[in-house]
Amino acid sequence: MTVAQSQLVHAAPDWRNDFPALRQEVNGHPLVYLDSAASAQMPEAVINTVAEYQRHDHANVHRGVHTLSHRATDAFEGARDKIRDFINAASRTEVVLTSGTTESINLVAQSFCRPRLKPGDKILITHLEHHANIVPWQLVCEQTGAELIVAPIDDSGQIEADTLTTLLDQDVFILALGHVSNALGTVNPVREIVAQAKARDIPVLVDGAQGVPHMPVDVQQLGCDFYAFSGHKMFAPTGAGVLYARESLLDAMPPYQGGGDMILEVSFGATVYNELPYKFEAGTPNISGVVGIGAAIDYLQAIGMQRITEYEQHLHNYMVAQLDAIDGIRLIGTAAAKASVQSFLLDDIHAHDLGTILDHQGVAIRTGHHCAMPVMSRMGIAGTARASVALYNSVDDIDRLVEALQKARKLFA
Ligand code: PMP
Repeated sequence: MTVAQSQLVHAAPDWRNDFPALRQEVNGHPLVYLDSAASAQMPEAVINTVAEYQRHDHANVHRGVHTLSHRATDAFEGARDKIRDFINAASRTEVVLTSGTTESINLVAQSFCRPRLKPGDKILITHLEHHANIVPWQLVCEQTGAELIVAPIDDSGQIEADTLTTLLDQDVFILALGHVSNALGTVNPVREIVAQAKARDIPVLVDGAQGVPHMPVDVQQLGCDFYAFSGHKMFAPTGAGVLYARESLLDAMPPYQGGGDMILEVSFGATVYNELPYKFEAGTPNISGVVGIGAAIDYLQAIGMQRITEYEQHLHNYMVAQLDAIDGIRLIGTAAAKASVQSFLLDDIHAHDLGTILDHQGVAIRTGHHCAMPVMSRMGIAGTARASVALYNSVDDIDRLVEALQKARKLFA
C-alpha cells in the first residue's frame, strides 16, 4: 500500500456508526462484519424509514382510495423513481420491482427468451456466474432445445476476452454475465463486452447484484438491455429487488406471472394487461422492502457512489496485501480489476473450520462454494473462505481478520 493509500484508508469517515448491527459484540468480541457480499447490514436511516412506513403508512398499494393506501403508493412509487435515477434508466417504466436478482433473471429467461428461443439457439454465459445466472438459463434451454454455452475464465478469475469474442456468433440469442463476481470479486469490463455484443445485435443481461452496492451504475452508459440487482446487498431489506429492462423489450414481452395488479381488465374470455412496468408485477409486492431500497439509495447518494468506490478500492487493496502476507495463504481470485471480495484458503484448514474459528473471535466471513460451484471446480477446489468489504468496514476490521487467521493457524499447527 502506498503512503497516499494508507492515509486515505486511515482518514476514512466513520460510516460504520450509521449501522446499529455493527455496534454489538459477538462471542465476546466487537463484531467485524466481512460478509456483505451475502447480505449487507442496514443503516439506521433505512431501518427507521421502513419502521415509519410500517407504523404509520402501511396499506396495500395502487387500488385504494383511502389515505393510507395513497401514502403507501406514494412511498412505493417514490422508491421506483429513486431507483430510476440511481441507475439512470431512461424511464420509470423500465424499472420492474421484483423479489431480487434471482427473480429478475428468471423473469427475463421465461418472458423474454422462452417464447422466442428455438433449438440451435445459444445462450452465452461465463464461467464466473452465480447459480442465479446459470440455472434459469438451463431451465429455459431444457424447455426450448436451446444450448447453454460458457465463456471460460483464466487462472486469475478473469474472463478470457478473445474466446468470449469468438463465442459471440450469430446463433447467440442472449449474453448474460455478472458485473462483479460474488465468489472471486472480479470486475468484468461490462461496457466493452456489451458493446461487442450489441455490435452483433445480441441482447445482454447484466447480473448486477455485486455491482450496485460498490460502484456507480448507469445502465444507459453500460448499454445493456437488462440489469438485475437485489435490495439486501445494497443496505436495504431482503426480498425486494429490481429488473431494469429496455422499454421496447418489455413492451414486447408477455407477462411473467398472472394475478392482481398486472391487469387492466379481466373477464373469463380475455384479460387486458396493465401498462409497463405493472404488467410484470403480479400480486401484492414487498412494499416495505421497496421503500427500504428507496431509503438505501438516499443514504448512498448522500455519501456519493464515486466516493464509496474509491474508499472501498483502497480498503480492498489493503485487505489483499495483508492477506497475501500471511504464511500458508492461497488467494483465490487475483484478477487485475476487483471489488469488495477476496476468497482464500489457509494451509489445509477446511474453509468451514476457518469460518467457525473466526466467528469465535467475532469475525464474520462466508465459507463454501458461494453459489458458484462451477467457479470452484474451475479453480480445482471445493470452496473458499471469503471476506467481503463494504463502506462500513475499516483497516481495523482487516487487521482483526488477519489476527484471527493467525490464531487459527496456530490452533491447527
Ligand atoms: N448474483 C450474484 C452475483 C449474487 O451475489 C447473488 C447473491 N449472492 C445473486 C445473484 C442472487 O441474489 P438474490 O439471492 O438476492 O436473488
